[in-house]
Amino acid sequence: MKLRILVTNDDGIYSPGITALAKVASRFADVRIVAPDVEQSSMGHAITSSRPLRYRHTPLAGNIEAYRVNGTPADCVALGVYQWERVDLVFSGINLGLNLGNSCWHSGTLAAAKQAALLGIRGVAFSMPVEDTEPDFSTLEPWLERVINVLIRETTISLVNVNFPQHPRSIRWTRQSVRHYDGKVVAAEDPQNRPIFWFTVVPLTEAEEGTDRWAVLHDYVSLTPLRLDLTDEKSLRAASKEAPVDG
Ligand code: MN
Repeated sequence: MKLRILVTNDDGIYSPGITALAKVASRFADVRIVAPDVEQSSMGHAITSSRPLRYRHTPLAGNIEAYRVNGTPADCVALGVYQWERVDLVFSGINLGLNLGNSCWHSGTLAAAKQAALLGIRGVAFSMPVEDTEPDFSTLEPWLERVINVLIRETTISLVNVNFPQHPRSIRWTRQSVRHYDGKVVAAEDPQNRPIFWFTVVPLTEAEEGTDRWAVLHDYVSLTPLRLDLTDEKSLRAASKEAPVDG
């Protein structure tokens, strides 16, 4: 039975990143794109519960079967899995912008892969740096193919966050970096002198060795296996011992 890969993203169905990913994925599997009709970056794992969703066929270049959804990345995965009788893997991306460290909390790209894992399907998120020029997928393509080859075979890993540097030289397994957060608040004023606020990215310098951020800084493709269980085992043990509650 031929492998089936559902491809989605958070940049929207017309992003060049999703066609680049679908093109390489189709060398390994039957591919179907189900993606948001407009950009949904930084929407995290939001789902649409207060209005209905639409699933509309969308012709795309490269002749890959594609559908657009008026919802979030997580909606696209839930609906895409519902509409296809079998899905073996969900790929999300390629996001135009890295998703390293704490951005895992608000990334829509990663949320789509998480939604797959929640449904018992392996999910992989792919991100690359964004520059002023048109993204160059030709440099990335052989690396993307190598990564997909590894992840298709590693069937025990259910959720992986992949980040590409601009010019990869090798691939590394990494941990999630947690030291920095890039959502700094900067205050400004609107034309009527009322206060407004921007979230901005703080330029980061150092990174802990072995982390996703460190890997990308050193031109490695970063593969971070993640899990859905957020329980802090150490605190759970300590709390049960030091602060026992009823029972
Ligand atoms: Mn995005």
